[in-house]
This record gives sequence, structure tokens and C-alpha cells, in this order.
Amino acid sequence: MKKYSNIVVTGGAGFIGGHLVERLIKEGNRVTVIDNFATGRPENLAAIKDNKSLSVFNADVADFPKIKAYFEGVDCVFHLAALADIVPSIWRPLDYHRANVDGTIAVLEAARLAGVSKFVYTASSSCYGIPDEIPTAESAIIMPMYPYAVTKYLGEQYALNWNKIYKLPVTSLRLFNVYGPRARTTGTYGAVFGVFLAQKLAGKPFTVVGDGLQTRDFTFVSDIVSAFIAAAESDISGEIFNVGSGGTYSINTLVELLKGEVTHIKKRPGEPDCTFANIDKILKNLDWKPNVKFTDGVKIMLDNIEHWKTAPIWDEKSISKETADWFKYLGK
Ligand code: UDP
Repeated sequence: MKKYSNIVVTGGAGFIGGHLVERLIKEGNRVTVIDNFATGRPENLAAIKDNKSLSVFNADVADFPKIKAYFEGVDCVFHLAALADIVPSIWRPLDYHRANVDGTIAVLEAARLAGVSKFVYTASSSCYGIPDEIPTAESAIIMPMYPYAVTKYLGEQYALNWNKIYKLPVTSLRLFNVYGPRARTTGTYGAVFGVFLAQKLAGKPFTVVGDGLQTRDFTFVSDIVSAFIAAAESDISGEIFNVGSGGTYSINTLVELLKGEVTHIKKRPGEPDCTFANIDKILKNLDWKPNVKFTDGVKIMLDNIEHWKTAPIWDEKSISKETADWFKYLGK
């Protein structure tokens, strides 16, 4: 990316952030990563760790006095630092608010005071909840179903308001089910790819939720990275764009591609039967389109399966224990 000389990536040691930073560094950019390594890992930056154009600071984005200094001379910010996952957001709503809302406003302020030319916010398709409109456009009803979704949406509201009030050039990307090599698997239960790949390595059955007919708009991480770069390079600001694969794929299809035995577990409340991004807006306005077909993406995951060797192996019993509060709080 030639447009900027000094880029900040918050959450740059995370799964998506690591891929973005790798690409930016490979394209000759100077990058500052701000990450508190709560869920980020140094391994995500291993391939570029000795590159002189990369600086990494261990800091909490909500700590405004500390992070402010890292924005001096910066002209572009990608804000990816956040706490993810549904269940822990039910357990620890204050931590989620601090990381995802206080963290976002602190980064927005630091970016504004530095006079950056572009700020890209990482929003989540979880803001659509259980959508009536499929494929779902950016204008669809907002219906966050759990604290994580609320906090990511509030962060987006702040970002768009910093555009409106202070004229900070903000673009918000609503990401749909991102997957790819190094997808996070440690810590809490979540993200189906990590769960299934670890089960496959251990020779255990895939824990398919419900009948497995539910579909997700699985979007490969390299396409997500390209969308971040397209958003930064564009002169458009103050807009929200969905980022999806252009399709939606059932869990049963995923199982067929991964190959293995299946066990069925209880359907979870508050989960949509289908996520599917309407990507007309981004196709029309940004110089971007998804490039990785689902079958190719799954093959890349299988080629990298060794990564999930140390991931927790979930089964019906441990999932049921871990998701008890999901049923308790999100049930009717
Ligand atoms: N899923 C599943 N088994 C699991 C975990 C997830 O069948 O052990 C399904 C889940 O029902 C959903 C899809 O995989 O339809 C994606 O789940 P994930 O948690 O990755 O993302 P989200 O539910 O947030 O879209």
C-alpha cells in the first residue's frame, strides 16, 4: 500500500491483525502494532518479527495516556484490537465494554489528535442478530443478541460519529465469519473451524450444532485483508461496508469437505440459521472482490491442520458445560 507512510494496527498480534500486518510489511509499509496480548500471540507475527519496518508495543488500547504517543506521525489506523467470542462476553461484560468500546474511543481520539488520513474500524456482522433480510445489506435492522455484539456495534457508532463530528475519515467493515490459517483456538470455545480441525486431528467426531443445515458466510482471511487495504486506499469515508465471501455454506457442507464422523449437539438460542452478506455496496464502491472459493479455503485449512495440534479438543460434554450460560441468558 503506497498511500501511507506510517500505519498503526491495533490488535496486530491477533488472528486477522497478524495477516494484515504481514501483508502491509511485505508491501513495504512501516507498521506499528499495539496489542496487549490478551488473546494476540507473538506467533502471529513470527514471519516478520525481525523486519525493521515493524514496531510492536505491548499496551492496552483503552489506556489512552499510554497509547497516545504511538500515534505521532501516523497517517493510517486499522483498529482491530478487541475481545471476541460470545460466551466470555456474557461472563465478563465490563471487560468487553472496556476493550471494545473504551478501547475504540481511545484509539479514535489518538487518531484524531494525530490528524490521520484514514481510520478503518473492524465491525462485526453479529450486529444483525437473526436477520430477516437474506442476503443482509448494511441497512438491515440492528439486533445485537449478546454483549460482544453490542460492544462491537457501539464501537462502530463511536467511529462513525468521530467522522461526523470531527471529520475523521472513518470506514467501518462488518466482517462475516472470518477463517484462515492461525485462526485462534485457545481460550474459550468458539469459531467452528478450530473446533472441528482439533477434533479431526484427535480422531474425534465433529460436534455439529443442530441438524447442520445452518449456513455461514465463511470469508477467507486474505480476502478480509484485501478489504482492509481497499478501504484504506479509497477516498470514501463515513461509510459501512459488509465484507463477505459472496456465498453461504452449511455446516454439513463443511463436514463433507473436512471428512469425518459426526455427533449432533443441541441448537443454541440466539444463533441465526443463515449469515450471508449482501456485498453489493463494497463491490460497487471499493476496488475489492472476494477471491478465495470456500472449497479452496477449506483445503488451505487442511493443509495447515498441524496448527491445531495444541488446540483444546471439545466434545458434547465439555461444550455443554462451557455454553451453559449461553442457554441460560440467550434462551427465550
Ligand atoms: N458450529 C457447530 N459446531 C461447533 C461450533 C459451531 O456446528 O462445535 C456451527 C454453529 O452452529 C454455527 C457455525 O458453526 O452455525 C459457525 O459457528 P461459529 O461459532 O464459528 O460462528 P458464529 O456462530 O458466530 O457465526
